[in-house]
Amino acid sequence: MTRKGILFIISGPSGVGKGTIKDAVLEKITDMQVSISATTREPRSGEINGRDYFFVDQHRFQQLIDKDELLEYANVYNNMYGTPRQFVEENLNRGQDVMLEIDIQGAFQVKLRKPEGVFIFIAPPSIEELSLRLAARGKDTQKSIELRLAACKWEMEQLKHYDYVVVNNDLKNAVDKVCSIITAERCKVKNFNLERDMIDSSFNQGSNGSGP
Ligand code: 5GP
Repeated sequence: MTRKGILFIISGPSGVGKGTIKDAVLEKITDMQVSISATTREPRSGEINGRDYFFVDQHRFQQLIDKDELLEYANVYNNMYGTPRQFVEENLNRGQDVMLEIDIQGAFQVKLRKPEGVFIFIAPPSIEELSLRLAARGKDTQKSIELRLAACKWEMEQLKHYDYVVVNNDLKNAVDKVCSIITAERCKVKNFNLERDMIDSSFNQGSNGSGP
């Protein structure tokens, strides 16, 4: 039996641990294509162009938008981020699953274009915990931490638009849950090409003479 490609969208407030969860899930589930986003933000130390992001300038990013080459895009804390559309479409059409790790504004756009996607919201255990995590990861200034915490309230209200919520109070537990969601979605009957496979099998039966 063959299956359709499934689009998994991991999303949630900034600093909630989406990236860490995604990386750990991908260590366990290797047959998953991961979209690499384009961004206008500067590479951080250790980040590699084409592996972590496609680092582009404003002009190039605008070209991608104008040519409709992005499935979604958003301004996240003063930098542009977007998902290259062709990579996603090609893999889904080949029956490959694709994972996106994007912010909430972007997830809404994907929902409009790909409502059949599986939308997973990663939630912080609490705002206090998120505040501690943002401070501990050392990527953000105090002002940007305050901005992110203020946004988090609105972001939590968007939970109702998602299919699943995973609270990240323990990394291993959260990773197990995301893996379980992926496994369950992969077993859903609606994700199998029943009609196409049935036509194929009746064709085979007819051609080898074993049919009725
Ligand atoms: P960072 O700059 O820390 O890697 O990512 C900042 C935020 O941008 C994170 O919340 C991340 O999920 C989000 N992000 C990364 N790639 C994309 C993308 O292609 N589209 C959107 N909408 N958000 C993205």
